Amino acid sequence: MSETATPQKFEFQAEIKQLLDIVIHSLYTEKEIFVRELVSNASDALEKLRHLQLTEKEVFDDRLELEINLTTDDKAKTLTIQDFGVGMTRAELVENLGTIAHSGSKAFLKALGEGGTKNAGLIGQFGVGFYSAFMAAKSVKVYTHSWRSAEPGQLWESDGGGSYAIEESEGQRRGCKLVLELKDECDEFSQESRVKEILERYSAFVSFPINLNGKRINTIQALWLRGKSEIKEEEYTEFYKFQAHAYDEPRLRLHFSADAPLAINALLFVPKENTEKLGFSRSEPAVSLYCRKVLIDAKPKDLLPEWLRFLKGVVDCEDLPLNISRETMQDKALIE
Ligand code: ADP
Repeated sequence: MSETATPQKFEFQAEIKQLLDIVIHSLYTEKEIFVRELVSNASDALEKLRHLQLTEKEVFDDRLELEINLTTDDKAKTLTIQDFGVGMTRAELVENLGTIAHSGSKAFLKALGEGGTKNAGLIGQFGVGFYSAFMAAKSVKVYTHSWRSAEPGQLWESDGGGSYAIEESEGQRRGCKLVLELKDECDEFSQESRVKEILERYSAFVSFPINLNGKRINTIQALWLRGKSEIKEEEYTEFYKFQAHAYDEPRLRLHFSADAPLAINALLFVPKENTEKLGFSRSEPAVSLYCRKVLIDAKPKDLLPEWLRFLKGVVDCEDLPLNISRETMQDKALIE
């Protein structure tokens, strides 16, 4: 019998076990970020496929749309996230979902080592990637087929304990389909309205279409990454109203990018109205921090100095050093 005919069991690497233990047992409250992490992985896989399609002659299931489909089932208490991206071979499953590759999870473990479990609250900032699924799921199944036609489809499965299993699985489409069987206390993530709200919050600007139960979620573009000359005035205004939840028109805007000390793209607006003057309470920071189109923090306190709290908009940092210090972000030259 070939070794792939029955599920083969593997132990997680020690660091992953440690990570899973924290992810599963921490009382981290914003569990919803796992959706952001899995959608980001799906988007990365689609991006990789888009590149491959330019160079490779043969790509499995080549006609599939480059999109991300989420399905909720509140009776079965499952959430399914499917992408038609590059997928994974058996060897890649072992390499990618069994050992620690991700710099974010590594950085998280390091920070944890320094501060002990009290740093578990940093999960959201470090984005522990795929493993964050286990904050909400009691078991995760990954059905996948690599873009390489010669490789068979696979099923990877784990309950987040010390091990996972892989077996061959026929009839898979290209890409990855993650089926999360939710914990009882996390069954909110099998409700369409809840998942919709999360996608709108964190993944509104992801480049590939995101559909939830067949309905398109993301329709507004990440304007800040486009060239100034190709953006129409109305597009800026529409973006401002959407992003800042504003009803007025912006008084001024600033659209710029910088390469040093950090690679950033920013689109900032000065509103027409000063709501504090109108008697509203003191404004919270409203320049949101993104990393490659994905929301990291909607109201980052240390991004800009307090007195700039009237500004609205977006700062997108390509390779977000997660330990962004006040100094770097408040770099005077950069802000000017
Ligand atoms: P990161 O995505 O930051 O590298 P993760 O732990 O989330 O870290 O994922 C580890 C690896 O697993 C990824 O680098 C990628 O190679 C692979 N992977 C995860 N999700 C997918 C997916 N949907 N399609 C293809 N590969 C994936």
